[in-house]
Amino acid sequence: MDAQAPATQPDWEEVERALVIMAHPDDPDFSCAGTAIKMVQKGIDVTFMILTNGDKGNHNPEITRNQLIELRKIEQRAAAAVEGVQHVLFMGVEDGFLQSTPDLRKRVTREIRRIQPQLIITSSPDRYFGGNGYINHPDHRNAGIVTLESIFPATDNMMFFPELLDEGYLPHKIKQLYIMGDAQVDLKIDITEVFEQKIEAIICHKTQVREPEKLQERMTQRAGQEQEDGSVRFFEQFRVLKFG
Ligand SMILES: [Zn+2]
Repeated sequence: MDAQAPATQPDWEEVERALVIMAHPDDPDFSCAGTAIKMVQKGIDVTFMILTNGDKGNHNPEITRNQLIELRKIEQRAAAAVEGVQHVLFMGVEDGFLQSTPDLRKRVTREIRRIQPQLIITSSPDRYFGGNGYINHPDHRNAGIVTLESIFPATDNMMFFPELLDEGYLPHKIKQLYIMGDAQVDLKIDITEVFEQKIEAIICHKTQVREPEKLQERMTQRAGQEQEDGSVRFFEQFRVLKFG
């Protein structure tokens, strides 16, 4: 067997709580819904943290900015319900302008210390392109950056944001970090049996998915990988960091 081949089985033995930190409402569902569903099935408590309010994702001139923000929360909660994901947090940063500021790092650090996840999933901090004709949204990169910069060095170090100690949030060390969309793939999770459920969750984002039938068709074509036996299977893949 190829020593470099990605693992196919996640190590969730010691994972009780997982936190998914992404830029926009719908990002967790498009990227790692299958993995979230599988974690929930294993009894893991999953939280989605959505960093921006998604207020630029609009094609309908009749919807105001504030209406859109509220609609996108409703849609994200509906998608989480389809997946069985227990908690959704909205951090409310303006869409399109996500930056790893000291204030946001403190807020993210506070939530990590409060939730105490063993596993965090976020997006790649250094992915600028995706194939031909796709520039990755800067918020996706910056979501990865703010997550990394909160985990290290702040989350586990009481000298960072000492006021969090006064609030009762003690330093916390996570065990695993999954990065989505990275060039390096260490883990490839087969989500075939929950792929339909993933689509169902994505379709909850009605303001974003204008033609649900076509989306299903497109996702099935694009994401499906034909196996040696001719069957088509679906995967979500991650770079994995483990902390001792
Ligand atoms: Zn996005």
